[in-house]
Amino acid sequence: MDPGPEPAPGLLRARRPRQAHYDGQMTNPLSNAYSRVGAGLRIGVLALQGDFREHLHAVEDAGATGVGIRRPAELDDVDGLIIPGGESTTIDKLSRIFELADPIRKRIADGLPVYGSCAGMILLAHDIADPAKDLAGNPQQTFGGLDITVRRNAFGRQRESFETDLDFKGLDFSAGENGVDPVHAVFIRGPWVERVGPSVEILAQVDPAHASHTATLHGLARIVAVRSGHLLATSFHPEVTGEKRVHELFIRMIRGEA
Ligand code: GLN
Repeated sequence: MDPGPEPAPGLLRARRPRQAHYDGQMTNPLSNAYSRVGAGLRIGVLALQGDFREHLHAVEDAGATGVGIRRPAELDDVDGLIIPGGESTTIDKLSRIFELADPIRKRIADGLPVYGSCAGMILLAHDIADPAKDLAGNPQQTFGGLDITVRRNAFGRQRESFETDLDFKGLDFSAGENGVDPVHAVFIRGPWVERVGPSVEILAQVDPAHASHTATLHGLARIVAVRSGHLLATSFHPEVTGEKRVHELFIRMIRGEA
């Protein structure tokens, strides 16, 4: 399959909104620490399918250079990698066709920080409880790295997409007078985590007492954010809500500050 015209390395970047005309006075342009936390970093976003543009915007909003990754050589000089939301079976297939799957596995094994959202979480999981099969009966593959088992589409189908507020560990850098604000999370046919290995820290769970979407939870809390060393994964999509702290956590992981 042809991915289309070959972009020059690094050219597949987020499009920046044009600077709005501003008549007022810029009182303290550098007061927003978030705007600089990624400065000097090159963060790759796997750009084969899914909402990679939103992730590119999120890292560029944090001051990093976002690099769309569609070819193995583009992986060479990134400080971190994001695997976006989308369709894990498609990203799996395309990553093998474009010979990115093995280089990504190798970079993960070498310690490259990687963040996966939704389909990206599935692609980082060691095991999928209910993998899709291709026409020949072969199950979908993952890059692996995270010692977890995920269940795809666990909360239900597209029309059961839902939003909820989550207590999210590891965001102390964002604490205000009243502590850390909850993370507003959007779930779009997301997976949940059914098993975590000993190396895996649980960062957030959907609490059936508070979630608007309780039908598929059957009264059980479900794990929706995890971290293991240099790997971070969420079942939901901070890149679509303007929630910046999950990307900031990832950037701090890259910088060795979290
Ligand atoms: N259900 C999708 C999958 O299995 C993930 C959905 C998403 O990334 N929003 O890949």
